[in-house]
Amino acid sequence: MTTTQASEPMDLGALRERYRFERERRVRPDGAGQYQSAEAEFGYYAADPYVDGTAGREPLRDTVDVAVVGGGFGGILAGARMRQQGVARVRIVEKGGDFGGTWYWNRYPGIHCDIESHVYLPMLDETGYVPEWKYAPGEEIRQHAMRIARKYDLYPDALFSTAVTSLTWDEASGTWLVATDRGDAFHATYVVTSTGTLSEPKLPGIPGIETFRGHTFHTSRWDYSYTGGTPEGGMTGLSGKRVGIVGTGATGVQAIPVLAEDAQHVYVFQRTPSSVDVRANRRTTAEDVGADHDGWARERRENFLRIVSGETAGQDLVADGWTASAGLLEKLLPSFSRDQAGAAFEAAYEAADAAKMNELRTRVEQSVTDPDTAEKLKPWYRYACKRPTFSDKYYAAFNRDNVSLVDTADTHGIERITEDGAVVGDDTYELDCLIFATGFSVGVSGILSGKLPVQGRGGAQLLHAWARQGPRTLHGFSSNGFPNLIHMGSLHNASSVNFTHVLDEQAVHAAALVAAAESGSALIEPSAEAEDAWMAVMAKDAADHEWFHAECTPGYYNREGLGRPNTASAYPHGAAAFHELLKRWREESIGEVLRPRAAR
Ligand code: NDP
Repeated sequence: MTTTQASEPMDLGALRERYRFERERRVRPDGAGQYQSAEAEFGYYAADPYVDGTAGREPLRDTVDVAVVGGGFGGILAGARMRQQGVARVRIVEKGGDFGGTWYWNRYPGIHCDIESHVYLPMLDETGYVPEWKYAPGEEIRQHAMRIARKYDLYPDALFSTAVTSLTWDEASGTWLVATDRGDAFHATYVVTSTGTLSEPKLPGIPGIETFRGHTFHTSRWDYSYTGGTPEGGMTGLSGKRVGIVGTGATGVQAIPVLAEDAQHVYVFQRTPSSVDVRANRRTTAEDVGADHDGWARERRENFLRIVSGETAGQDLVADGWTASAGLLEKLLPSFSRDQAGAAFEAAYEAADAAKMNELRTRVEQSVTDPDTAEKLKPWYRYACKRPTFSDKYYAAFNRDNVSLVDTADTHGIERITEDGAVVGDDTYELDCLIFATGFSVGVSGILSGKLPVQGRGGAQLLHAWARQGPRTLHGFSSNGFPNLIHMGSLHNASSVNFTHVLDEQAVHAAALVAAAESGSALIEPSAEAEDAWMAVMAKDAADHEWFHAECTPGYYNREGLGRPNTASAYPHGAAAFHELLKRWREESIGEVLRPRAAR
């Protein structure tokens, strides 16, 4: 196959052909089966490197008002919004040793949020905190999570280093029995689940992985006791060390430039290159972001959400790579508002997509001095096929003498790991340290994975109830037969690249449900008819993007190239429109979800 020069104009036919070629050489028949769970297969990779959570404590047998499963931003926001509604006892149960979720676990070097901090960090209006950088480092985000938890007094009742193992509805007391892996069996009047979507690290099933004698870890459990340093760098433990890193997704793109500063040599094992757009991180002032009046953060967040969800917004306040390419996100987000369709629209979409991807391929050529390396770093797929990434340091790292790009596209990744290193084709790379930036299993945590069994009214198992027709909810939050159980996450709800915004709207809604149930001495439980009606809304205008993802390079968006399931999983008319729908429903119709409860 001849390589095509990205900087030259390219006809769409040739581009489609190139994309097909690149996809086909990457699709593996084993699809998602190529991975293994870090937790199940190699407990070592999933262990908490930050705290020793094994210290004994007395199991709890008490009763709280609200139990929240998960202490990431979703759980913290649920707790905070419950407090604002006057709920007294909120107990958050979290596997990690503190609050933060994603930001607790992920502390790899270079970690930043690639969504603007002023719209990503929740509750800025409420906490008075104004981030100083357009894109915040991970530690600042983690500290903010803890700030919210402190402000809303969520620490005293929290259980850390603890996983909920089952939820069982107790009809007699009208409460949930919450069991954990630390022997707790306490009751909660309401349960909120917020267990995250990308929370379980995964490892490639590379033959021989268990034989490697050097040091090894997953990026979401960065071992600073070995590397030295901090997320800012200074990893003196790596001087004189040959380090391999597998994976060039959003994590790899952020970690590799920092790793290159300290390791003797870095081998980057790439299978599919990311698209890497301009970052332009910079210090900002309160004036820059309009933080001079109450509600400034809410307005900015709302503005961003509208733009990246295809809704009308007027001025673009954030004005970054996400908003500039918002039109190309349509195929990525099931909530994206689309009032255009048909052949003419798709043709214009494809042309705009090609122009953007050409621009990004040209960026590689202009940034990487070795033409062969530059060629390998070019992304050959449509913009929405893989999560876009942003960095001004990534490509420059490949101009260093101590960084080598090892292209593993033709061998479907590293072929074999030995005691001493990694084998790709005829080459063996001897390594002292092998780091997996290989991402997370999708949809394996929480209720839908079956790892958190939920038994509702009359002993009904939630997953059995959903087995025939798939999950059924009202607005994604609650289900018939499972009173006072509120789901947060990406089920039948809004989707956005700014997930904390979606979570905060969900937290507000969850707290309003609890407040309404409390004031009416009622249970939160939709009727089967209300669920039917909501499922019909979800299905009616759901976009079918199956064909688009079928042509994409493999990844977790399309089940590793084998097809994208369940496109009807989010409200199809825009995330902001969904939030308005919820608000109106809370004002006018919340009573529909309440059922009288027997006297407690
Ligand atoms: P990803 O799943 O996005 O990337 C995993 C990487 O590992 C891919 O490059 C993949 O290649 C590669 N890989 C997997 N198996 C092999 C193998 N056998 N050999 C070689 N390479 C392999 O994980 P990330 O941790 O990068 O990101 C996960 C998600 O977390 C992101 O999509 C994003 O949603 C979020 N995130 C967000 C950030 C933010 O700033 N907001 C920052 C970091 C992550 P291939 O593509 O070929 O499968």
